[in-house]
Amino acid sequence: MKAIQINRTGGPEVMQLVDIPIPTPGPGQVLLKIAATGVNFIEIYFREGRYPAALPLTLGMEASGTVVALGEGVTGFATGDHVVSAAVCGAYAEYALVPAMQLVRVPPALDLHQAAAAFLQGLTAHYLAFSTFPLKPGDTALIHAAAGGVGLLLTQLAHRIGTRVLTTVSTPEKAALARSAGADEIILYTQSDFVAETRRLTDGRGVDVVYDSVGKTTFAGSLECLRPRGMLVLFGASSGAVPPFDPILLNTKGSLYVTRPTLAHYVQTRSELESRAADVLGWVADGSLTLRTEHTYPLAEAAQALIDIASRKTTGKLLLIP
Ligand code: NDP
Repeated sequence: MKAIQINRTGGPEVMQLVDIPIPTPGPGQVLLKIAATGVNFIEIYFREGRYPAALPLTLGMEASGTVVALGEGVTGFATGDHVVSAAVCGAYAEYALVPAMQLVRVPPALDLHQAAAAFLQGLTAHYLAFSTFPLKPGDTALIHAAAGGVGLLLTQLAHRIGTRVLTTVSTPEKAALARSAGADEIILYTQSDFVAETRRLTDGRGVDVVYDSVGKTTFAGSLECLRPRGMLVLFGASSGAVPPFDPILLNTKGSLYVTRPTLAHYVQTRSELESRAADVLGWVADGSLTLRTEHTYPLAEAAQALIDIASRKTTGKLLLIP
């Protein structure tokens, strides 16, 4: 089968299209014939070595497809089932293994491309809005990079809850997308100071929560945007890793909270995964959560997909089609 592997860490040039054997499922695993692979920023962190991994590594964590073989002890799935997962062992490939515990059946109303487009970023938006800082009507949130994959979904969820949603984006085109997702206010953080704008838009009070996936370039400013005892949810590092900081800052800036969550810890049990997945896939199926799949690439062009997402050119979701 074809797969995209890295043998060393580095830039897009280390990604190779290789021919490797189709893997055999071990105990508790399922073999998936992949229909669509989700492109996520985390692949860049693995490729660059920011997240360590054994090499050679087939990139990719998110895919939808059809179950073609079951390992020993797997129950609840059968060959032919349409499934999706955000914990695939090497999703940049034609086939991949997935722990059955991390697999979810795709509702009949959704096609497999929609399922891959919704899953990892949708689950992320779900736990951020409902668990990390459970938003309430009347809260005010600042969401950075609101036209991105997670950003567009999180903006929709926050708006639907009744939260006042302030957002940042880099271009007027992205501003229009954030607006259509339900943003109440849009700050072009490439042109104006998002801290001053946030303070102005909240009459100096600050927001209850900042969802910050940008990291290095926004972190310090995000702390400045919070009301006393507000929470900074740092969930990504699209602009680079946040440098170490002195916790006394949290005291001087208003007894603030900072958390650095990751999806795996919010889908730790089967029931938590199933319940979040049912919400996200159900809302896409009934039209209450809108997906934006900006571009699909052939598997062989995976390196280009990561170049595009890293260069701030993209909005919404990118998919690879094996
Ligand atoms: P996005 O589609 O949001 O793409 C990243 C966006 O970040 C860009 O479009 C850009 O928006 C913004 N950005 C700002 N500065 C930079 C920069 N210097 N370089 C690149 N991008 C920049 O990606 P995803 O939706 O896939 O992921 C968003 C973030 O969320 C990532 O950091 C990812 O790692 C993280 N994430 C975390 C999860 C978790 O559980 N913790 C799970 C899933 C994703 P603009 O042009 O508007 O500035």
